[in-house]
Amino acid sequence: MTRRPFIAGNWKMNTRRQTAIELVRQLLNGLNQDVRTEVAVCPPNPYLTVVADLVAGSPIELGAQNLYPAGDGAYTGEVHAGMLTDVGCRFVILGHSERRQYFAETDAFVAEKLQSALAGNLVPIVCVGETLEQRQADQTDEVVRAQILGSLEGLDEVRAAGIVIAYEPVWAIGTGLTATPEQAEAVHQLIRKLLGELFTPEVAAQIRIQYGGSVKADNAAQLLSQPNIDGALVGGASLKAADFLAIIAAAEATLA
Ligand code: PEP
Repeated sequence: MTRRPFIAGNWKMNTRRQTAIELVRQLLNGLNQDVRTEVAVCPPNPYLTVVADLVAGSPIELGAQNLYPAGDGAYTGEVHAGMLTDVGCRFVILGHSERRQYFAETDAFVAEKLQSALAGNLVPIVCVGETLEQRQADQTDEVVRAQILGSLEGLDEVRAAGIVIAYEPVWAIGTGLTATPEQAEAVHQLIRKLLGELFTPEVAAQIRIQYGGSVKADNAAQLLSQPNIDGALVGGASLKAADFLAIIAAAEATLA
């Protein structure tokens, strides 16, 4: 089973209109039109339309960083799936550890969002990962297992094949610490096995599992060469065009 590599940039709350425009222009300049790796950027909501206009017709796709699982209605400050597709989003990041940590998002809430994303024709990128304390207490497998089971609750196997999982050890996000390729691959293997039990091994073989956690130009190749690492969700390094392009190039090299 060959899974198309997928590199996504999570810009978090880190750009303004002008820096977003410059970043996209540099990415468009540096990216080969025939790139085989799937590439997406996830700007802050206010800049989605600006970026959508710039990337239209290019290989760069658009993602959002979150959604609220409802339709039109009285939910001040929130944005739903229909609005995101309306402005050109194809992807949405769900259950990022920063949302779990700062906004108390539970697996059950992530599962609700997942249904909403799929019903709204968005491809969800579902994030899971253990904290440093959990890893040190040897709880990584059980934590990731519980997050996968809880966050994918209610998902049927037909739709499961199209989702993306991001394994992001919390201790590696924005810290400069990276899981070794072996550490990451071990968890990716576990996730794929679990997906095989939840759905079927054939479905599990189709689901792309990204790694996230201080992926940089100089560690991407090793991580992406692991058999169960199908791409990367990139925070800090996605804000510098040269670094993000180098990570995409590392993904392309796995296809050579
Ligand atoms: C992330 O926020 O998803 C992430 C992986 O960030 P960083 O690459 O900066 O660790």
